Amino acid sequence: MTDARTNLQIDSSRLWGTIHETAEFGATAKGGVRRLTLGPEDKQVRDWFRKACEAAGMEVGIDALGTMYGLRRGRDMSKPPIGLGSHLDTQPTGGKYDGILGTLAALEVVRTLNDAGIETDAPICIVNWTNEEGSRFAPAMMASAAYAGDYTTDDILSRRDAEGITVGEALDSIGYRGAEAVGERKFGGFVELHIEQGPILEADEKTIGVVERGQGIIWYDGKIAGFASHAGTTPMPLRRDALATFSELVLAVEKLAKDHGPHAVGTVGEIIIDNPSRNVIPGDLTFTMEFRSPESKTLDALDAGLRKAIADISARRNVTIAVDQVWRKEPTIFNEKLVSAVENATQALGYSHRRITSGAGHDACNLATVMPAAMIFVPCKDGISHNEIEDATQADCAAGANVLLHTALSLAGVSGSESK
Ligand SMILES: [Zn+2]
Repeated sequence: MTDARTNLQIDSSRLWGTIHETAEFGATAKGGVRRLTLGPEDKQVRDWFRKACEAAGMEVGIDALGTMYGLRRGRDMSKPPIGLGSHLDTQPTGGKYDGILGTLAALEVVRTLNDAGIETDAPICIVNWTNEEGSRFAPAMMASAAYAGDYTTDDILSRRDAEGITVGEALDSIGYRGAEAVGERKFGGFVELHIEQGPILEADEKTIGVVERGQGIIWYDGKIAGFASHAGTTPMPLRRDALATFSELVLAVEKLAKDHGPHAVGTVGEIIIDNPSRNVIPGDLTFTMEFRSPESKTLDALDAGLRKAIADISARRNVTIAVDQVWRKEPTIFNEKLVSAVENATQALGYSHRRITSGAGHDACNLATVMPAAMIFVPCKDGISHNEIEDATQADCAAGANVLLHTALSLAGVSGSESK
C-alpha cells in the first residue's frame, strides 16, 4: 500500500517533550532520574501516565501488582490487543531513557494513530510494568515474571524492601493496588522498544537493533575453603591459599567465556575474604559468579567447563571449592513472526539496522514465554545505562518509535479506508 499510512510518522518533538517532562519526576542534579518503584516519584509519573492515557481516549486498568494498562479500542474487540510498552521506574541513579522510552513511545504511537484517525482491527494496549529495575524490591522484572506465572501474586506482594515495607504496602501507600488479576489480560503479542544498554549499535553505526534473542543466565554462589596461617612463617609449597586459588578460578571463568564467544560472557562480581588481614594467608572466602549466553547448549558447556576447572584447581591446590547454581534462566528466543514484523517495518522506513541479542533482561523476555514477543533497540551514547549520564538522541528515539508504530500497525491490522 502506498497510502498515507506508509508515510505515517510519530511526532518526534512531542515524544521528546514527554521524555523530558516526565524526567522531572525524580530528576537528579546530574541530569538523571531517581524514581524507585512504588515510591512518591513513581506515583507522580504514574498519575501523569494515567491522565495522558485517558486524554488519548484509552481505558486504564491496573492489576494487583500495579501494572498499568491503557487500552485503545480496535474495530474487532474479539481480537486480543497488541501490547506495547516497558517500564517507568528507574535505578537509584538512573537515566531518562531506560524503560521510559518504550513506555512513552507506546503512548506516542496511540497519539499518532488518534491524530491520523486510524482505527486498527485489533485493539492496542500500552503497558507500564511495575518494578522492572529490581533495585527497591527483588526480583527485577517482578510484575512481568508474575504475569508469566513464574511467581504467584501473593509471593510478590510479600517481598520487602530494605526498610521492611512490603510490595503490597507500597502499592497501597501510592494507591496503585489494582483490581485486575495478574495475567488475566491476554495479548496477541507484545513489542518493547528500549535503548540497547550496550555499545554494539553505536559501534556498528546502526539506528535500529532488531532483537532476536535474549541472553540466558546462570548465577552461582561459591565458597573456597583453604587454610589460614601466618604469612611470614608458612613456606610457599605448604600453603593452601584460598585467594590464590580464587585468582585461578577467575581467570578460568574469563577463558571459558572467551572460548565460547562471541556472545558468551562470564563475570565474577563479588568476593568476600573471611577475616582478612595483611599478614594472614586467606583461609576462607565466598564469591558470586555468572555466565550468560543466548544458546542453552553454550550455557551447558560453560557450566561443564566450570566444573572441570574447579576439579582441576582444587585437586592441584588441595583446597575445597564449592559452587552452587542459584539461578538459571534459559535464553529468550523472540517470536520470528514478530521479529520479522519489526525488521520489515524498519526496512520500509529506511533505517539502518542489524539483528542483535539483548545482553540485559527485559520485561519482554519474561512475556516471550507466554505470548509472541519482540523488541526494538536504539543506540545509547557509549553504551552506558543505569547511570545518570545515560543518553540517546532525539532522532534515534523517534526512529525507534516509528518502528514501534509500524510494527503495531502490521500486527494489529488496518482495513478499510479510514486513513486520511
Ligand atoms: Zn529497562
